[in-house]
Amino acid sequence: MGTNAEFSIKRQVFFCYGHRLRDYAGPCKNLHGHNAKVEIELASKQLDRKGMVADFIDVGRIMKNWIDKTFDHKLLLRQDDPLIPILKEQGEPLFIMEQNPTAEHIAQLIFEYATTQGLPVVSVTFWETEHAAATYSNP
Ligand SMILES: [Zn+2]
Repeated sequence: MGTNAEFSIKRQVFFCYGHRLRDYAGPCKNLHGHNAKVEIELASKQLDRKGMVADFIDVGRIMKNWIDKTFDHKLLLRQDDPLIPILKEQGEPLFIMEQNPTAEHIAQLIFEYATTQGLPVVSVTFWETEHAAATYSNP
């Protein structure tokens, strides 16, 4: 076994969200929704005393809870989107982002949260549709 060998695990989380992109001419410029799949990959050269990189149950509890609370059934909008005041007034649940709410930026936010929770995350892949995904990683 080489010295760079390591174990990795993946946990998937599914949720629904709406968004629209600014400064963009494709169909994602209009308000619409996606059924997202998030794949969180953790890695470690050594296993813990249970023989695990991390317990799937712990990873699921930490990440699924936060993802549901933060993004599920919310509208993800860029901070300068002119719809924000109107939707706030109507009581719509929003998640406001500094950057365009693309798969890339959502993957990055999820990665950064996993890091703050002490999880040995190496990548987050965010599937916006069955066919299209973006990955943020720190190999
Ligand atoms: Zn979209």
